[in-house]
Amino acid sequence: MANNGAIFVVGLGPGSKEYRTIRAQQVLEEADIIVGYNTYLKMIKDVTDGKEVIGAKMKEEVFRAKVTIEKALEGKKVALVSSGDPQVYGMASLLLDMMIRHGYDIPVEVVPGVTAALAVSSRLGSPLSLDYASISLSDLLIPREEILLRVRKAAEGDFTIVLYNPISKPLLEASMEIIREVKKVPIPVGIVDHAFRDNEKVIITDLDSWKKYEQLIGMVTTLVIGNSKTYVAGNKMITPRGYERKYSY
Ligand code: SAH
Repeated sequence: MANNGAIFVVGLGPGSKEYRTIRAQQVLEEADIIVGYNTYLKMIKDVTDGKEVIGAKMKEEVFRAKVTIEKALEGKKVALVSSGDPQVYGMASLLLDMMIRHGYDIPVEVVPGVTAALAVSSRLGSPLSLDYASISLSDLLIPREEILLRVRKAAEGDFTIVLYNPISKPLLEASMEIIREVKKVPIPVGIVDHAFRDNEKVIITDLDSWKKYEQLIGMVTTLVIGNSKTYVAGNKMITPRGYERKYSY
């Protein structure tokens, strides 16, 4: 198929423009059409001027991927945007999966972005400095039991745990209870809402007291639960890498 159609699946980073990559900015500027969830399109008003923009609601991922492919088949350069990184609970796998199933031959570039785990952790200090696991608490596509089993295994493995999509209170509470049950020592918990966006909130608490802040947790919140070495000092949540075992400083 000879046309100039191309697809860019672009990570926008956590919110403010400064945290977009230069490559993301380039492809957004060069795209003929930008497709995305309406809230994300608002985050990139600076590059949508004069372009065709196709917005969609939250649960319309399949529509977004389909329309992206259709427009690229017509010869357009299409940017399909996700917040953070497009591989991390974003649009990249659905788009690639759909293309492979249908045998479409259009060039696709996945443009990585700063995912919420990294964005929120930078606000907390440095809690991800050893091995960590990221888990989505959305049970729209993955059964609840599977999610809770992963939470348990991550806690047993003493991974620092990042919880995305903490939208269901019962599932969040069950997850935190499992982690508390597995851990034998006090564990710091970071809660960051709207990182790098207006009304950002950063809370450092612990596994026994996190519920005080439950009201604050919503669609744009990520939680970071420390491992057994994570500590809090001077308003920072820190997971030491182990230098202290080898050096005195
Ligand atoms: N692809 C995105 C994740 C999409 S899933 C990424 O890589 O970041 C949506 C979840 O991401 C939200 O429920 C929340 O847990 C997290 N998230 C996205 N943006 C965020 C932000 N600015 N601050 C805190 N959490 C955020």
